[in-house]
Amino acid sequence: MSVSSIHYLSKIFQPVTVISKTASISRKDVTSKSQRLMLELGIIRQSSPGFFHFLPLGIKSLNKLKKIVNQEMNNVGGQNVLCPSLINCNLWKTSGRLENAGPELFQLKDRHRHSYVLSPTHEEAISDLISSVSPLSYKQFPLRLYQISSKYRDEIKPRFGLMRGREFVMKDMYTFDTDIESAKQTYDLLCESYNNIFKKVGVDFIKVLGTTGNIGGSVSHEFHFKAEIGEDKVLFCHNCNYSGNLDLCNNEKCPVCGEEKQIDISNCIEVGHTFLLGDKYSKPLKATFLSKDNKPVALQMGCFGLGLSRILAASVEVLSLEQEIRWPDVLAPYNVVIIPPKMGSKEEQDTKHVAEILYTRLESAIPHLTDNVLVDDRLSLTIGRRHLDARRVGYRYVIVINKKASESVPLFELNDIKTNGQLYLSENELISFIKDNTVL
Ligand SMILES: [Zn+2]
Repeated sequence: MSVSSIHYLSKIFQPVTVISKTASISRKDVTSKSQRLMLELGIIRQSSPGFFHFLPLGIKSLNKLKKIVNQEMNNVGGQNVLCPSLINCNLWKTSGRLENAGPELFQLKDRHRHSYVLSPTHEEAISDLISSVSPLSYKQFPLRLYQISSKYRDEIKPRFGLMRGREFVMKDMYTFDTDIESAKQTYDLLCESYNNIFKKVGVDFIKVLGTTGNIGGSVSHEFHFKAEIGEDKVLFCHNCNYSGNLDLCNNEKCPVCGEEKQIDISNCIEVGHTFLLGDKYSKPLKATFLSKDNKPVALQMGCFGLGLSRILAASVEVLSLEQEIRWPDVLAPYNVVIIPPKMGSKEEQDTKHVAEILYTRLESAIPHLTDNVLVDDRLSLTIGRRHLDARRVGYRYVIVINKKASESVPLFELNDIKTNGQLYLSENELISFIKDNTVL
């Protein structure tokens, strides 16, 4: 491995945002811990209210989440597509959604005065795609198409950073089956797949009965992270184990058994939503298959959304300390940071290139650490200062090269910011420890 491929912290574009009363982003605009930390530490940067740049560390984390999601979508036979963001308004008229859409729907006209929506979701677009090749043979099904793309919603009051922005990154899958029974099987399979995704992410989640809202359909579930700032309320009944969005309940009562006392109501952040749609979109938009007796029949659809940028922010919200980001291990931009001694110190003279050698050995011994190790080469700063920065950005393992690394049996200081443990380990012990303790 050549030295040029080493990731050096000084080269990372990570502009911090100072949040004050006078700056372009003031304290009143910063409404959640995750938003503040991600802005302050250069993970994201606001472009205008509700719109954010993902900076290199943010993108690295987002790409890790995309990889997990792509893998799971492939496991359930999903095929990746990418629909345009601008969708002809006529499709939304046909489905009947345009008139009820309200001001949250971005709309614009092209030079020919044709109207488009900047899509918040793609049921119409994907149904129209299938319609354009309909009727398809029943042998083509089940068909499961998904995309990962930016979605748009003109929030009256964007807040909590990536959690309620006006542009956000979603994974949306649309499934097509030939009958209700197989559509239900697809639905259960996808719910199971969502369980797998959230287990991999590693933040505690719950799946509850959901509201169908303006998407519609007959069955719906929501996946939530519990959090104080969550805008959804979820009711749990200890009497019958029912759990559902509070919007489904009357007067804070369990809608199944009527229990009023043995219930908990928690604030939650919705991170995923599944819908069994039936033929709500396939019928008006004519997405059909050819039955065995050669008749075109409307397909049974499901739609499955995951808010990827929201999952990222919500994970940070749930796991972080007040002043220090904590990531799920699988989503951290880097997992290991190596801090060499300060420039001009005796330790620096005695440990030349040790950081680079250790970096190379870590990556070659632990393949999944490739591109996940960082050298903090800001040698004019003290070890203490860089250690503090590493804790704030939330790198799980902080390896400090100090005078013990220049002894006859070199030892490295390994700090685990999750357990607050500190160990002195030989190079081999260090590599085994990290190998055994990281799940990526
Ligand atoms: Zn109940």
